Amino acid sequence: MIRIRNSLLAKPVLFIFAGIGITLATTGVTAVSLYQMRLDAMAQARNTAQNLVLSLQKETERNLDIYQLAMRDVVTSMETPSILQLPPEVRRLVAFSAANSVGELGVIFAADAAGNAVLDSRSNPPPTFNVSDRDYFVVQQQQKGTGLYLSKPFVPRVGNTVQPSIALSLRLNDANRQFAGIVAGTLRLNYFHQLFEGSILGDHGTLTLLRTDGTVLMRQPYHRDDIGSTLAGGHSFPPLVQSDQGTYVDVAVLDHIERLYSFRRIGKYPLVVVVGLATEDIYAGWRKRAFAIGMVTAILNALTIMLVLMFSGQLRTRFAMERQLQTLAWFDALTGLPNRAQLNKETFRILTNASRDSSQFAILFIDLDRFKRVNDTQGHSAGDEVLSEIARRLRNCVRGEDVIGRLGGDEFLAVLQNCDVHRAAHVAGRILQALYQPITVNAKYDTSITLSASIGVSLYPHDGQDADTLLRNADMAMYKAKSTGRNQVHFYAPLYERQAKEQLELEIALQRALQGRGLSVAYQPKVDVTGALHGAEALVRWHDEKLGIVPPDRFIAIAEESGLIAKLDAWVLDEACRQLAEWRAVGINVPNISVNVCAADFKRPDYPGFIAHTLRVHGLKPASLILEMTERVMFDESADGIHTSLEAIHALGIALSIDDFGTGYSSLTYLHRFPVKELKIDRSFVRGIGVDAMAESLAQTVINIGNMLKLSVVAEGVETPAQRDFLHHHGCLMYQGYLYSPPLPPEDFARWVEKHRQQTPAGGSG
Ligand code: C2E
Ligand code: CA
Ligand code: CA
Repeated sequence: MIRIRNSLLAKPVLFIFAGIGITLATTGVTAVSLYQMRLDAMAQARNTAQNLVLSLQKETERNLDIYQLAMRDVVTSMETPSILQLPPEVRRLVAFSAANSVGELGVIFAADAAGNAVLDSRSNPPPTFNVSDRDYFVVQQQQKGTGLYLSKPFVPRVGNTVQPSIALSLRLNDANRQFAGIVAGTLRLNYFHQLFEGSILGDHGTLTLLRTDGTVLMRQPYHRDDIGSTLAGGHSFPPLVQSDQGTYVDVAVLDHIERLYSFRRIGKYPLVVVVGLATEDIYAGWRKRAFAIGMVTAILNALTIMLVLMFSGQLRTRFAMERQLQTLAWFDALTGLPNRAQLNKETFRILTNASRDSSQFAILFIDLDRFKRVNDTQGHSAGDEVLSEIARRLRNCVRGEDVIGRLGGDEFLAVLQNCDVHRAAHVAGRILQALYQPITVNAKYDTSITLSASIGVSLYPHDGQDADTLLRNADMAMYKAKSTGRNQVHFYAPLYERQAKEQLELEIALQRALQGRGLSVAYQPKVDVTGALHGAEALVRWHDEKLGIVPPDRFIAIAEESGLIAKLDAWVLDEACRQLAEWRAVGINVPNISVNVCAADFKRPDYPGFIAHTLRVHGLKPASLILEMTERVMFDESADGIHTSLEAIHALGIALSIDDFGTGYSSLTYLHRFPVKELKIDRSFVRGIGVDAMAESLAQTVINIGNMLKLSVVAEGVETPAQRDFLHHHGCLMYQGYLYSPPLPPEDFARWVEKHRQQTPAGGSG
């Protein structure tokens, strides 16, 4: 068998988690890198746009500077007085040569104060045209010191070109600094078109030349209608003119496409050049790559998951096999019970626990009597059936914490935790009884077999300190059981053997007593400080013909272990009620009667109903009855619904009294939670009064708790006036004990009440 249990791979689930982890990690890394690539694409586009806009700005600025310089030349030549003195033709010629230098950019011309062309770089003499209505004329005419003016786009009046143009104008002054006309240069917007055309813009990129008032002078891609339209008023216009340069992402006003825009003001000119790169184009390359990378990652992830699933599946199968092998190694294949090896392990574990807690445990060696006969007469398969059935019955005889295993053949072992001789005897008895029921082996022929067993018992620590010794001794005890007649239990230690025998005898005798007339009830008065009777406690008595008087402290425990207690308590309850009713009928006034109950009583179906019924039968009111129980009863988990029963009993009007208070769990919360009316100070505390400071202070504590919670406090076992005085002094007002009376047979009790009534005029309290 390959041992991989201790490695990390030992858990297929972990393996799957690791696979998922790897997948998530690669997906995460991919996502992050894709995101980074996307950022990179944008950064790169930003660079491109900024470089492009810078080169366009430089180029345009340079050309406009040349243009302006040429215009200024013309202005100078036309304004210089010396030149003005030259004949007009000569002056024109000078200006013409200056103007001519800008040839391919457009036309430079001059107009007089009336707007008539006086000079033109295209021809000399100039063509006849008037520009007095043009904005570039009017502005210069009306405002001194405008400087260079840049016009709106227009279609020139001269020449065969219909290409839109703009004009730059400068003012001409005469000698008196009065308006003398303008020098203007027209610039075919086509020039910009050519300039921009070579730029790489992607499918949805744009290039725009704007006047700072928002008028579009040129737009690439070129649409005639865009020329002269205005962007002013659009939400992204203000940033364009508020700074000299910038870059931002925005959705275009004109075509609603999202773009990365980069812009620059062209020198001192009222012009802005804007480059827009569509984000769609920016991310186009990234998108293709992202798709490819995503696909590859997805495929790799799918492969990883497939591999992990396949591998973990294999692991799972392997583990299942390993588990099966283990089951074979540790459990008996026929009965499913632990085998000898597993039993050794379990025994060792229980032994360790027991030595740590210094508790006892028992080993029961169970051997079937004459099992060989079953195999011989019914065949081996019938034998197997019998063994399986025996295993099932054995399991039912023990508690969950106990271990039942098969040593082999017809030998079984029971290891009983927290077990003393009484319980061992009891469980062993139950096993004998359970096995001694007929087993049907061959349903068709309705064959049934009855088997008995011999059981040997050893107890830790008395009969051995280690598992081997205990097992050997249990085995020896079992042989003893076989040799002395089979179908019986034998203890290894003579002491236990005796005790177990006695216990068995007692159990049988008690059973007889419950059917016959061995039981009786004694009554012990409960009095107040004046000695007046307040109630009586019913205490069971057993007088066996052979065993004599058996004290309750011995047989109550046996009754509890053997399950006889509920029957016993029911009998006491009925008898006490009957007696109380009888006394009252003859005028003996007993205020109430207390009976002792235990957890097992509550297991009876409808226990409250049973009590109510008993009271009714004897014509008693619920107030006549008090139930005494120890704290342990309230915490007993074996009796389901015990709390509900207590509520129901309280609802009937029956009082609850806590017996032996302070010796058990003493959790104050249950005193609030349950309808408790009375606390009884345990005998052991009362005995300690005047002797043991600890017992005294415990007695005081109980009294204080009772008084605080407004419960009556009854002291039991009060034997001396000193005890009574101490108790009285500390606030305990009710007493029970030999100082007043021992528990008495009914006739004696009646006499005691009569005699007492004469002594204490206070009488009872009804
Ligand atoms: P318990 O309920 O604490 O009963 C009081 C015990 O103290 C009785 O013992 C009683 O005889 C004894 N006692 C009373 N006064 C004195 C005294 O002054 N000095 C001393 N040393 N002892 C005194 P008993 O009758 O032997 O009963 C023992 C225990 O058996 C009871 O303790 C109770 O837990 C249980 N028991 C008795 N009758 C029943 C019953 O009918 N049903 C159940 N479930 N338990 C019962
Ligand atoms: Ca009691
Ligand atoms: Ca008690």
